[in-house]
Amino acid sequence: MTWVGVMWGVAHVRRGGLWLLDLVLPPRCPGCGAIVGTLNSFCPPCWTSLDFLGHSGCESCGIPLEAIDHGTCAGCLARPPRIARTRAAVAYGDIAGSLAIRLKYGRKIALAKAMARYMLPLVGELPADALLVPVPLNRRRIAVRGFNQSLLIAREIGRKRGVRVAPRIIRRIRPTPPLKGMSFTERQKTVAGAFALAAKADIAGRTIVLVDDVLTTGSTAEACAQTLLRGGAARVELLCWSRVVRNPIFVR
Ligand SMILES: [Zn+2]
Ligand SMILES: [Zn+2]
Repeated sequence: MTWVGVMWGVAHVRRGGLWLLDLVLPPRCPGCGAIVGTLNSFCPPCWTSLDFLGHSGCESCGIPLEAIDHGTCAGCLARPPRIARTRAAVAYGDIAGSLAIRLKYGRKIALAKAMARYMLPLVGELPADALLVPVPLNRRRIAVRGFNQSLLIAREIGRKRGVRVAPRIIRRIRPTPPLKGMSFTERQKTVAGAFALAAKADIAGRTIVLVDDVLTTGSTAEACAQTLLRGGAARVELLCWSRVVRNPIFVR
């Protein structure tokens, strides 16, 4: 057997072994690693410390409503967002952030399944030709990381809900600096023109659900939505694992 053959064999057995381990080992909490009863579910302490957002927020942008708001927040009434409906499974915090970071940098790909599980109930009624589109990374970041974490989450949701995933419909045509600390207008300027529609993107009249792991300022997703709507999409929604809700930079 050649050296390449041996290496291939080792990789193959290891992969097979991992698959077997999945079947044999008890499921673990994606937050802390404690043994849990159900695959991709949190243990009681992690569950109680997570802030599940559900459908309680603004009908449009999803942020928690003030006592004086009725269905739609004051921000959305004053300036209707391009994204018709935004939902996130949990508020950003220690556990929510740790899942996103471990998926992104620790290559814990199984975490995408746990995130998707808690995002699934937030997928609204969708037309049969709706598409799930992960918010694209720039090519350099994909080259370093090897994958787009949002695509892994989108694939899992698409598989469970029977919605097509279309990762190549939009792409980043230039990298953008971190938007943290910028004003709303600065952020808009920074991300404007950062995305382009694929030449053969068939999105006319369709509903597109953007999928992302963490929603902070919302400017990146808004820029994606602008590109999609200009390209003929009928409606754009956004579905995230977690979002920053108590942060002044989120104020629109
Ligand atoms: Zn836990
Ligand atoms: Zn709103």
